[in-house]
Amino acid sequence: MKILLLGKDGQVGWELQRALAVLGDVIALNRHPVPTSFGELSGDLTNLQGLRDTIRLVAPDVIVNAAAYTAVDKAESERDLALKINAQACQVMAEEASRIDAFLVHYSTDYVFSGLGTRAWNETDDVAPVNFYGESKLQGEQGIVASGCKHLIFRTSWVYAARGNNFAKTMLRLAKDKQTLNVIADQVGVPTGAELLADVTVQALQKAQLNPQLCGIYHLAPTGETSWYEYATYIIDFARASGEQLAVAEINPIATTDYPTPAHRPLNSRLDTKKIRAAFSLHLPDWQSGVNRMLMEILNK
Ligand code: NDP
Repeated sequence: MKILLLGKDGQVGWELQRALAVLGDVIALNRHPVPTSFGELSGDLTNLQGLRDTIRLVAPDVIVNAAAYTAVDKAESERDLALKINAQACQVMAEEASRIDAFLVHYSTDYVFSGLGTRAWNETDDVAPVNFYGESKLQGEQGIVASGCKHLIFRTSWVYAARGNNFAKTMLRLAKDKQTLNVIADQVGVPTGAELLADVTVQALQKAQLNPQLCGIYHLAPTGETSWYEYATYIIDFARASGEQLAVAEINPIATTDYPTPAHRPLNSRLDTKKIRAAFSLHLPDWQSGVNRMLMEILNK
C-alpha cells in the first residue's frame, strides 16, 4: 500500500510517520518541494496545482493530511491563507482521492461548534464556528464530505506532543521565569496526544478500508475533561514532583473575558466519543496518562 502523508513535521504528522509505517510505503512531505526521479513532489498546501500534480504523480492508495493552518488568532487577519490551506487544499485532495478511488484521512477541530452549553458535542450536532480558523476547518470538512471520496475525518481538541509547540510547553517555559501565572479556567476540553491520534488513525483506517461503511466524521479525544487552569496546575505539579526547579509560586484562575484575543475561543470543547469507540472497538485512555508520558519526555525523566 502507498500512503501520501502531508504535514509530516507537525505534532500529528510526526507521530503519523511512525504509526503509518506498519501499513505500507509512506511518502511523507512537508511544505518544501522534493525532487524525485519521477518529478518534483510538492506538499505545500498553498500551491494547489503542485498538490494536485503531486497526488497524480504518487497515485497513493491513502492520503493522510496532517498539514493545516493552525494559528488560530492570526487566521482572523489571514483569512485567504487559512481558507486556502484548510479548505481549498482539502478540496483538491478530495477531488483527486475520488478520481483514483484513494482513501482520504483528515483532522478537524471542536472549533466547528459554537462552544455553548456543557454537553459533549456529538457528530450530528449543528455546527457554528466561533472563529475564522473554525470556519476554515469546517469548509475543509464539507469539501471532503461533498466530494464523495472515501474518508475519515477526526475532530479533536487541545492537541499536544513532545515535539512541537503547545500549551504544556508554554506553561513549563513560563513557570521557569514567572512567579505568577494567570490561566483561563472557564474553557473546558480534553488534551489529546498526537500519539493517540496517530495510533487510532492506523486502527480505524485498517477497518474502514475493509468496510467503507465506516467512512465519516468521528470525534476523537481521551476520556475525562479539564480546564486550561486545571491542566496548567497538573503540568506544574508534575514537573515539580519530578524535580524541576520552577519560579512560579501562584497560579490564578481567570475568565476568558479577562484575556481578550483576536479570535474567540469556545467555552465548551468537550467531544462525545461514543461513535468512534463503537465503530472501531476502541478503548480510549484518560487524558492524564498521555500527558504524563509527554511530560516525562519533555522533562527527560
Ligand atoms: P501543527 O501546527 O503542529 O502542524 C501543522 C503542520 O502543517 C505544520 O507542520 C506546518 O508546517 C504545516 N503547514 C502549515 N502550512 C502549510 C502549508 N502551506 N503547506 C504545507 N504544510 C503546512 O498542528 P497539529 O499537528 O497540532 O494539528 C494537526 C491537525 O489537527 C490539524 O488539522 C489541526 O487543524 C487539527 N487540530 C489541532 C489542534 C491543536 O490544538 N493543535 C486542535 C484540534 C484540531 P510549518 O511548521 O512549516 O508551518
